[in-house]
Amino acid sequence: MIAESEILTARVPFAGADTPSDAIINTCVHCGLCLSSCPTYRETGLEMFSPRGRIYLMKGVADGRIGMESDVFQEQMSACLNCRACEAVCPSGVQYGQILEASRTQIEDARDDGRLPPHPWPVQLLRSGVFGVLFKRLELFQGFSRLMWFYQRSGVQALARESGLLKLLGLADTEALLPPMSNAFTVPQGQIYPAEGTARYHVALLTGCVMATAFADVHAATLRVLRKNGCEVILPPDQGCCGALHVHGGDMDGGRELARRNIAAFEGLGLDAIIVNAAGCGSTMKEYGHLLHDDPAWAARAAAFSAKVKDISEFLAAIELNTCDLKPLPITVTYQEPCHLAHAQRISAQPRKLLRAIPRLVLKEMPESSLCCGSAGIYNVTQPEMAAQLGARKLNNAQTTNAEVLVTANPGCHLQLAGGLQRRGSTMRVRHIVELLDAAYAGDARQL
Ligand code: SF4
Ligand code: SF4
Repeated sequence: MIAESEILTARVPFAGADTPSDAIINTCVHCGLCLSSCPTYRETGLEMFSPRGRIYLMKGVADGRIGMESDVFQEQMSACLNCRACEAVCPSGVQYGQILEASRTQIEDARDDGRLPPHPWPVQLLRSGVFGVLFKRLELFQGFSRLMWFYQRSGVQALARESGLLKLLGLADTEALLPPMSNAFTVPQGQIYPAEGTARYHVALLTGCVMATAFADVHAATLRVLRKNGCEVILPPDQGCCGALHVHGGDMDGGRELARRNIAAFEGLGLDAIIVNAAGCGSTMKEYGHLLHDDPAWAARAAAFSAKVKDISEFLAAIELNTCDLKPLPITVTYQEPCHLAHAQRISAQPRKLLRAIPRLVLKEMPESSLCCGSAGIYNVTQPEMAAQLGARKLNNAQTTNAEVLVTANPGCHLQLAGGLQRRGSTMRVRHIVELLDAAYAGDARQL
């Protein structure tokens, strides 16, 4: 356990709304069964970097033995990936994600109201720009994406990289995570895409923020695959970002604002399901019910919304998949499990079932497929060293399979893995699982 000497004396307590639940904290019986599943513990071997160590710190603040100004407390709330691998294996059912997100919100709230020193101004600027503006106003996000498209296609990116300017500014690693922006930029919203053949399901698709710009091709593939499977698909026009980055990053109120917007945009449409193709978004949307449980005007609406949310793999594996139109794809793939699919949503068998349904596709399992790749939202920006270690570990494991394609289902993982493979000069490509199904329906492996 952590020595008392490493911990400061009590000063700034948890306060107000979004206090980490004592009931959850006290559910931990310190058995340590989660330790071997924790990526940061596996990398460091240090108790402080484990779920048990972090819960001990939260309990320290809850009991008044330490305060939130403790460097150790703040470092560990930030060093945790929120991958929730610990939660998935905990025999006592500790809902670790909830107490971590509440602890982060407590730290940020205390910074805002002056109980803790504010972030340095560049971080403040970044947080207010990203959380307060870009992800709340999609037209600005789309404008930013267009700017990035111009940066990439005009030659400015090549110049910035070759001149060493990015290294000089300390931005080389962050810039390398920038995805190649899609020509499509945005998926048109508000349209209804009819099913191919008889409509069996009436579903809606979350288009979101990053997926709708950098991964618009994945959305197009998702629409085609859903329509092939008897789905009439609507893209509700007033939807926005799901709020996952806000909830994970200590801005619970920002997450609530976006949740309310999405609930209003999707309700009343008589949907069979709300389909999500980004694991982190789906996980957060399934938890809108919890996020708004204290809001009498929204609690029931949020719970009804969350009950309809389905990851694309979860949905397709549950219905009678159209296998008649799947043509052979003679390629070898390996599957890396996004944490918010495997651990937060407990969806692990379904993506494999879909891949195995594709004729002649060979699925070769990599070691540690469900260990976090180090992306974790903006973790690879805030904790670059640990993110790089975990990214390298993941790619070493993936490359033992000699697969041509590394399959995943979350934009953060996609960017982290594709960036790492590019730096290694590897020919392995990263693709979303729906792109594999889409290629099999088209009978064209070249699009992979
Ligand atoms: S979080 Fe769960 S598995 Fe980990 S130490 Fe606590 S009770 Fe044990
Ligand atoms: S969420 Fe992930 S990184 Fe954080 S304590 Fe749990 S297993 Fe470790």
